[in-house]
Amino acid sequence: MSFFQRFFGPHVSLRSPEMRVFWFLLPIILVVFIIDIVFLPYLWSFLTGALLVLISIVAFFISAATAKLNNEIQLERNKLKGIVLGLEDGIIVYDQNLVLSFFNSAAESIFKIKASEVLGRRLTPQDIESDKTRLLAQVMFPSLAPIVVPRSKPGEYPQVTDLSFDNPILELRVTTAPIADDRGKLLGFMKIVRDRTREITLLRAKTDFITIASHQLRTPISEINWGLESLSQDAGLSDNAKELAKNILSSSRKLMKLVEDLLNITRIEEGRFGYNFQSVDIVSFLDDVLAEIMPQVTRVGLKLYFDRPKEKLPQLTIDPQKISMVISNLVDNAVRYNVQGGSITVKVAPLTDKPYIQISVKDTGIGILPEDLPKIFSKFFRSSNAVKFQTEGSGLGLYIARNIVRAHGGEMWVESELNRGSTFYFILPTDPSLVPQKEIAIE
Ligand code: ADP
Repeated sequence: MSFFQRFFGPHVSLRSPEMRVFWFLLPIILVVFIIDIVFLPYLWSFLTGALLVLISIVAFFISAATAKLNNEIQLERNKLKGIVLGLEDGIIVYDQNLVLSFFNSAAESIFKIKASEVLGRRLTPQDIESDKTRLLAQVMFPSLAPIVVPRSKPGEYPQVTDLSFDNPILELRVTTAPIADDRGKLLGFMKIVRDRTREITLLRAKTDFITIASHQLRTPISEINWGLESLSQDAGLSDNAKELAKNILSSSRKLMKLVEDLLNITRIEEGRFGYNFQSVDIVSFLDDVLAEIMPQVTRVGLKLYFDRPKEKLPQLTIDPQKISMVISNLVDNAVRYNVQGGSITVKVAPLTDKPYIQISVKDTGIGILPEDLPKIFSKFFRSSNAVKFQTEGSGLGLYIARNIVRAHGGEMWVESELNRGSTFYFILPTDPSLVPQKEIAIE
């Protein structure tokens, strides 16, 4: 490796195109130098000579440094191109006029179309009419796709959208991000298209299995429950036998609850839980729900308080049956994880800074381990202190409750202190336009 290459990198040489400026200048400088020597006095020819040498050196270094920089950019570009071309996700780049400038090989195989057929072309919604460009048009203009599920907030980048197609079955996740120059000027957009058909098909097969198994289990369990109920009231049975029948009935009811929870989870995850929204006065609604729960709370020696708001609250748009499931679950947990003689306080109050009503369920129970707080709303999760305290539980209730609240445009969270108690909060919008129009499948 020459000294020059050691200094400017192995791929730069005196013959690099960027060195042309120097080679072009060199003879001119030499000619001017000779003219100087011949026609100028000694001192002047020395000074201009030194200046010309300096210009030559500067021209040499600028040319060589430009060659080095261009070489580095080229290497980076090739590396990036190699990565993008080898990606399993389809990549489409287009400008603001929807003219395509990049289409990788994964995109070619997803859309079954060659890059050369679309590069430089402007896509329009009319492209949906041609078999060849139909799918590409539906991805470029998602409103044309049969099923569209937005996964990000409107107007927020990157935009993530799930698109489903029936014929042939295809599940695509499309992520759209803007491309801007260093000064933030918008140059175009990039779409990353992920083919999730296999993944979703496997997930559906699993969910279908749970749905069918749960449905099949429901009928025999109902019959067992019905039989045990009559048996436990049968006057002809001994007290021991009646007690036994009651215990089995209680276990059988828990089994039924588990099956119902599993069915509800599959419905929620597929986005078909079915919400019937109504305008409801939340305070009188909570009065009714709590009155129903009250006997269960007092039976175990706990106290239930309802902290009402001082002012009149606006009507809420909710599905009363689903929100009553949420309250029952929270109060049920506050009972099961409470200590002897403890209390439960349900409070409802408006938020001052947002159009929401906040409902909280506070207990004086065992609390939640700080490291478990982030996992508490996950499916099947049970905290180790809760498992020791209450052996029974599925870890499904809070997962269902939080999803119901989210489907109302709200949010749920918890604050807790170990051995002091927990408070579960959730908010519901008072403005009906904040309630999602459509149920969305979750993953
Ligand atoms: P389950 O109560 O059937 O286990 P949940 O989904 O309702 O299922 O609750 C999940 C877990 O959250 C519980 O197992 C427990 O660890 C914790 N948890 C819920 N509510 C409380 C509470 N009020 N106090 C302490 N821990 C709680």
